Amino acid sequence: TCLKGRVIRSQGLNSVVQVDDGRRLDCTVRRLVRTMARDDRNAVVAGDHVLVRPEGDENQAVIERVEPRHSYLSRGSKRREHILVSNIDQAVIVVSADDPPLKPSLIDRFLISSEKGNIHSIICINKIDLVDPVQFQPLIGVYAQLGYDIVLTSVVDGTGIGRLRSLLKGKQTVFSGQSGVGKSSLLNQIDSRLALETAEISQESRKGRHTTRSAVLLEIASGGWVVDTPGIRQLELWDVIPEEVEGFFREFHAFVPQCRFPDCSHTHEAGCGIKRAVANDFISRQRYQSYLKIITGDEPRPVYHQT
Ligand code: GDP
Repeated sequence: TCLKGRVIRSQGLNSVVQVDDGRRLDCTVRRLVRTMARDDRNAVVAGDHVLVRPEGDENQAVIERVEPRHSYLSRGSKRREHILVSNIDQAVIVVSADDPPLKPSLIDRFLISSEKGNIHSIICINKIDLVDPVQFQPLIGVYAQLGYDIVLTSVVDGTGIGRLRSLLKGKQTVFSGQSGVGKSSLLNQIDSRLALETAEISQESRKGRHTTRSAVLLEIASGGWVVDTPGIRQLELWDVIPEEVEGFFREFHAFVPQCRFPDCSHTHEAGCGIKRAVANDFISRQRYQSYLKIITGDEPRPVYHQT
């Protein structure tokens, strides 16, 4: 008499689970499930696939089992990790073509966060109506060659919305990107029932909302789930130490062994395989610049903390 479902929201030990027939049940957690998690907060999180047993009133149930998580996003150190959401299939990294202007190094920072979590990335350049898309051809080339999906969108004229919708089908997706790039507007365009608040709503009420809510999964009418998590939206490099950064630039891998020094940082050293590859156009100059910015902290500094 157990039912399969997906946790769409979880606050402490109370969760809302959507079971396979579409019903939403208020759930508590069986003690055994709690004791198996090292930390109560991580026992059940949004995104979890669970088995529930109806108990008590009509819309109530108990979570009997949490299926193993194939991925998750967390905060904090390994020992005191707080899992925010689980079973993410992909991330849509949203940047805007203008207003705010596009900074490629920001794309790379977000890419590092998802690479670190082993999450496939889709790059979305929104507000394409504000510019001539031709100017982004080289940038699109760079990321397409690295194997990332890239889509140009506009909420104003509808460009790319259909493609984005089809990329979300059957997947659980997290949207990340700076505030103001149009994430909420895009989601509303993908499915108007989501009715997310956009920048037009006063900053004050947004703030209030952000502090009081944890991750929530939203179902898209055309298929798929998106994670609405104010904290994750501005997901930055967590727990990444400078020495690790090169590992997340996938096109560097082939050239690192050519460096004269095994601990080469690819900045000032002689006989650097990466610098040679950049000079020979095997690695894009823009990506190398971004690598330098990230490791030297030449930008708003990411949170590098060693565990
Ligand atoms: P979020 O903070 O990333 O969720 O961004 P919002 O969805 O709140 O959008 C920020 C602002 O950008 C709002 O004023 C939107 O109307 C505007 N905006 C969003 N998408 C587009 C777009 O495709 N084109 C243009 N011109 N403006 C957009």
